Amino acid sequence: KTKTYHSLRPKIPLPPPSQPLSITDYTLSQLHNSPTPISNKAVLIEATTGRRVSYGEFLSQVHSLTSSLQTRFPSLSKGHVAFILAPTSVHVPVLYFSLMALGVTISPANPIGSDSEVAHQVRLCNPVVSFATSATVKKLSRLNIPLGTVLLDSPEFDSMISAQVASTHRRVEIAQSDSAAILYSSGTTGRVKGVILTHRNLIALIGGFVQLRHFGDPDPNEPEPVSFFTLPLFHVFGFMMAVRAVASAETMVIVERFDFETMLRAVEKYRATYIPVSPPLVVALVKSDLAKKYDLGSLRMLACGGAPLGKEVTLKFNAKFPNTEIVQGYGLTETGGAATRALGPEESLQYGSAGRLAENMEAKIVDPETGEALPPGQRGELWLRGPTVMKGYVGDDKATAETFASEGWLKTGDLCYFDSEGFLFIVDRLKELIKYKGYQVPPVELEHLLHSHPEIADAAVIPYPDEEAGQIPMAFVVRKPGSNVTEAQVIDFIAKQVAPYKKVRRVSFINSIPKNPSGKILRRELVALVLPAEKKI
Ligand code: AMP
Repeated sequence: KTKTYHSLRPKIPLPPPSQPLSITDYTLSQLHNSPTPISNKAVLIEATTGRRVSYGEFLSQVHSLTSSLQTRFPSLSKGHVAFILAPTSVHVPVLYFSLMALGVTISPANPIGSDSEVAHQVRLCNPVVSFATSATVKKLSRLNIPLGTVLLDSPEFDSMISAQVASTHRRVEIAQSDSAAILYSSGTTGRVKGVILTHRNLIALIGGFVQLRHFGDPDPNEPEPVSFFTLPLFHVFGFMMAVRAVASAETMVIVERFDFETMLRAVEKYRATYIPVSPPLVVALVKSDLAKKYDLGSLRMLACGGAPLGKEVTLKFNAKFPNTEIVQGYGLTETGGAATRALGPEESLQYGSAGRLAENMEAKIVDPETGEALPPGQRGELWLRGPTVMKGYVGDDKATAETFASEGWLKTGDLCYFDSEGFLFIVDRLKELIKYKGYQVPPVELEHLLHSHPEIADAAVIPYPDEEAGQIPMAFVVRKPGSNVTEAQVIDFIAKQVAPYKKVRRVSFINSIPKNPSGKILRRELVALVLPAEKKI
């Protein structure tokens, strides 16, 4: 009998799928229904410059830009793709909502991507137009983008967002099933892929949050939510949190380039109440003495996701910041963001868990060998189904076919289990498991143990080829300042805590662990450090 896990949260009513509706109209209609006046409230504040955009200004900029785009590019139409290569700024969310209002699919990418990464993304999404800044435009110069590039830091763009438009723009009818955004998966296990999210996906993603806000009684003693954005707006986590913040009429404090102390200063100055974070930032807050220099008393919550967060780190964080709870969530670009999350203080006490299935989500835990669906407590591959699951990968039918099982199930590639109360625990990525004499060793488990060592600042574990065992777990360790911990001590520390097949059998010391912006360890870079090219795994 198949075992399907269903969300335990109340079902969120969504607009009928056949109703034409763009994510822009859905979001802006939430704002028009706001119970309190918002036109003077800040939507965006740039922390370093203090530049502030109110909701009134924001709505007028979206309106102007939508019209200006139609005037400037008469041939730009629904179904076209716009490539966006820009660091975080107050213009980026305006651009997103304006393009999506026209049915143009936005495709934002990492502005510090290499020339070849950018070229690969442009090849995948095939844009007709692009948006960049004077700093990033070079990377697009040799690519063929028919309508060219608009610079966000140009007088031209300024006039496009401030144009007085007499009439409204030509309305474009958008089906919820139309593509809204192409976001790039991190590609830490495989080549970067362009994930197509529809307007429906995004409506479903933020619908839950927005309805919670409308139905819940706002507590007059609680401050208005103000978030500090550590996450870039091109990655699914930052992207989704930004759309959600606008739909909920919240204030976002942003920075062009993340900097730890700028964040602390901004939290104090703007009384930020929550920060979406990746795990390395939680670790940094735990270890930093700088944090004590600033008043972080306004901070109620860290929403953490993107990579595994260990129990040890959570406990240390709670001891240092007793008034700030860490709420973990788990998701993929392919699910448009959080597919599971903890809700409320009780759920966030389930250390090591990534919370429960989000509204309207279903899951299975599937034995990768037999394909059998498994009950609570047993480990297998997590499959997900629900209204936020992507349409597919752009320009890669093969990868799309491989990622979906029948009946719309998305295979996540993550090894997980549910406990009997519906909490999800992520063990590791299936592709990253180390095979020691045929036994599966999850590097993440060993990394959590290494983090709990008092003299270890950071660590990562990779498979190292071994004639007899196939692969052995090898640890890269960053010592804390002043520590002289040795290879033998590290090996011994782990050996005392794990089954023999999971022992770390080789250690190398390093200055820092390479990670991507969402906190994922770049294991391939570590593998490349120890192996000659022909032996790479
Ligand atoms: P991406 O779509 O590139 O952000 O990567 C999605 C992957 O990030 C998932 O398949 C997981 O392997 C990992 N991930 C995301 N959130 C978590 C979490 N809370 N704990 C552990 N792994 C996570």
